[in-house]
Parts: sequence; structure tokens; C-alpha cells
Amino acid sequence: MSAVLHRNLRSTPQLALKGDGVYLVDAEGRRYLDASGGAAVSCLGHGHPRVTAAIIAQLGKLEYAHTSFFTNEPSERLAQMLVDSAPAGFGKGRVAFLGSGSEAMEAALKLARQYFVEIGQPGRSRFISRRMSYHGNTLGALAVGGHAGRRALYQPILIETSQIAPCYAYRDQRAGETEEAYGLRVADELDAEIRRLGPETVAAFIAEPIVGATLGSVPAMPGYFARIREICDRHGVLFIADEVMCGMGRAGAMFVSAQEGVRPDIITIAKGLGAGYQPIAATMASERVAGAIEAGSGLLANGHTYMSHAVACAASIAVIETIEAEGLLDNVQRMGALLSRRLNEAFGQHPHVGDIRGRGLLQSLELVADRDSKQPFAAKEGLAARIKQTAQGLGLICYPSSGTADGVNGDHVLLAPPFTIDAGHVDEIVETLGAALAATLPAARS
Ligand code: PLP
Repeated sequence: MSAVLHRNLRSTPQLALKGDGVYLVDAEGRRYLDASGGAAVSCLGHGHPRVTAAIIAQLGKLEYAHTSFFTNEPSERLAQMLVDSAPAGFGKGRVAFLGSGSEAMEAALKLARQYFVEIGQPGRSRFISRRMSYHGNTLGALAVGGHAGRRALYQPILIETSQIAPCYAYRDQRAGETEEAYGLRVADELDAEIRRLGPETVAAFIAEPIVGATLGSVPAMPGYFARIREICDRHGVLFIADEVMCGMGRAGAMFVSAQEGVRPDIITIAKGLGAGYQPIAATMASERVAGAIEAGSGLLANGHTYMSHAVACAASIAVIETIEAEGLLDNVQRMGALLSRRLNEAFGQHPHVGDIRGRGLLQSLELVADRDSKQPFAAKEGLAARIKQTAQGLGLICYPSSGTADGVNGDHVLLAPPFTIDAGHVDEIVETLGAALAATLPAARS
């Protein structure tokens, strides 16, 4: 019996022994194509020599020095690299380095709160986010998350937040409504919610520029985020872009906010930032936010022991340099387009595949019991979990999710392979996924 507190206390997961490029290898020597990079983490695959060498080199110089006493070279350099590549209008921002996406979200919420205290608007303490979103598992991040299932157990100890609709055209777009009109209609829910709460009480709106963990991958409609920015500006509300999953190249650009032409006040990134080589996340404060704190108290009212970890920051620098040196953003765009095409060819007419969507190498399928009515499979069927297990048995790691409540108990399969994949890997992903779906969805239904 394992002494590790695994997620499922009654079974021990397969033992991963080593990584080999886009493959993981278990203790029996079985190989798995890591087509989700865990949860959209391993963007360079496994065992990349450049990142490994950077980690070893940094360990030879300095592993850690507490931020109360020192700064260090890798964190200074990485912060500058991130600020230099931030979306237009971000300005001379500042970056805090943390250990996980959830911590980055906590820091974002705290920064937003501190910003309003510093500028003399202490009444602004409320957060608005979107239903069916996921922002992490710590209590603050759970409180702003719109994943009803994950919140349920902790509801009594969560701060009160409010949620508006996500931009989720497959389920919500009305017949005859253009994409733009749909996007503006749901964005305008933010305006209504801010007015309902009272603008003087609202600190920030939080959204994933591409929804990830809860709905597969859902990019917004054109014009949606421009309207969101307009509404935030109208009411003096900050916009926090949670790019923990979709940022750092996953969608074909370092920041999805830049693709959307929107200027966030605070950005969170994680996953691809360390690519799994080190646990690292970042909260990026724009010039507006960092400048207000600098001009006010001058002191960040938040801190953690492992902030700005030198080895983690050195790994991230190597990850970003590798993406640049190997032209991987181009590969994400090319392989993303190919993966999307192949998924559409293979499953576009599948009776249980309702939608195929995504951007870059963040692609997903939404599974339905009936394509016409879009009726999801019953949650008790545990479809996502069965697909995950079956695919793993066939040598494919994909990331299914299910059951986000709010009336939709949908099942999704997320694909987020390494940026280094080639056309052969794309074929292998689609073929193996097809076999997993065929084995999981009863033939009578297809
Ligand atoms: N935000 C988003 C959009 C995520 O997808 C996740 C994790 O999946 C998080 C935050 C939380 O990150 P972590 O699991 O590193 O705490």
C-alpha cells in the first residue's frame, strides 16, 4: 500500500519511471504519448537537455536565497523577459514568482484588493468571475472559480463572489445570432452584474482568455474581450486574465490576451512557464497596479517562502529560450491547425462528438449523448474518467473532464501535447483517441 495521499485512496496510479521527449515510460517499459502534458504543463516534452542543463548550472551557483534579504539573477532576468513580452499597454509592470497556478491566483486577488486600498477606494472588495471556470484549488481561487462541483464541499468557508455566463457559444449562442452579437451579449452580463453589486464595491473581473480545465478549451468570440475591457474601464474595475493554462505559447502566442487585443491589469501564468521542469507560476502586475502600490505604501502585502526561487526561474528562462530558439510558436500554430483538421476529419460526424474546438495546441472534444439535442451523457456514467483510463491503457495520455453543474454535465477531452510534436504524433494521437472512444462509447449508441 502506498503512503502517498493519492487522489484516489483505494488505488495507486501507474508508476512513471522516466520521460523521453513526447513520451512517458512506466515501470514495465510501456510508453505513453503525453498528449495533454499532464494538465497542459509539459510544453517541451520530457527530458529536454537545454532546460536540464540550465537547472544544473543554476544549482551550481545558487539554489535559493530568501526574498526578504536578496534578489537573484534568474528572477530579475525572467521578470524582465515577461514584462517585455506582455500585451500592449501593460507598461513597466512587475512580476511575482510563486509555486503554483493557485498561488498565482491568490496573489492576483490580493494585489487587486491592495491596489484599491492604495488608491483610496477600500470599499472595492468584490470579485466577479464566470460560471464553469477554474482558477485553482486554494480557498481564494476556489471561491472565484465557477466550477460548482469542486466548490461544493468547501462552500461554507469560501468568500462570496459572483459569476456571469462564460462565452460558450456551443451551448448558448441563439439561432440567428452572429458570433459577435453573441459575444457582446454575454460580455454585457458583466456590466449588469457590476451595476447590481454597485461599482464602488467591485475590485476585479477574472476570466481565462481560453477556458481550459472545465470545458475542454473554449476561446472567446471576436470582440468579447474588447467589450469586457470597455466595461471594466467604465466602472473602474480591474481585469485579471488567468492565463495559467492557455498562456506561455500554448495557443500560439506567449499571451492569449495579446491575441485578443486586450490589456489585462493583472495576468497569471503557470504550467508552461516551468514546463514541468520546476514548479513555478507568476503573477504579473501591470504598471497601473504595481505603480499604485509603489506610490502608496510601497510594500507588497503578500509573501511566500519560495517566491522567486532561483532554480525555478532559471528553468523558466531556459523554457522561453527554447521556445524561441526552436521556433516552437510556429510549430504550435502549424501542429495546432493540423490537429484540429485531423480531429474534424476523424470525429466531425461522430454521433457522440458535439463540438471540436480550441486554439493552437489546446484542442478539445465535447461529448454528447445526442448531437441534435446536445444532451450530455449522465454524470453517473463517468464517461470522462473511463475514456482517460482506456486511452492510458492504449498508450495515450489525454485529459478528460466532466460535470461542471450549472445545468451542463458535459464530458470533454482536452488535448494539450508538447509544442515539439510532429505530424506523426498528431496521427498517433487521433488514432489512439479514436480507439479509446470506440472502446468507451457503446457501439449501440454510435
Ligand atoms: N487557473 C487555471 C486556468 C488552471 O487551469 C489551473 C489548473 O489547472 C489553475 C489556475 C490552478 O493551477 P495549479 O493547479 O497549478 O494550482
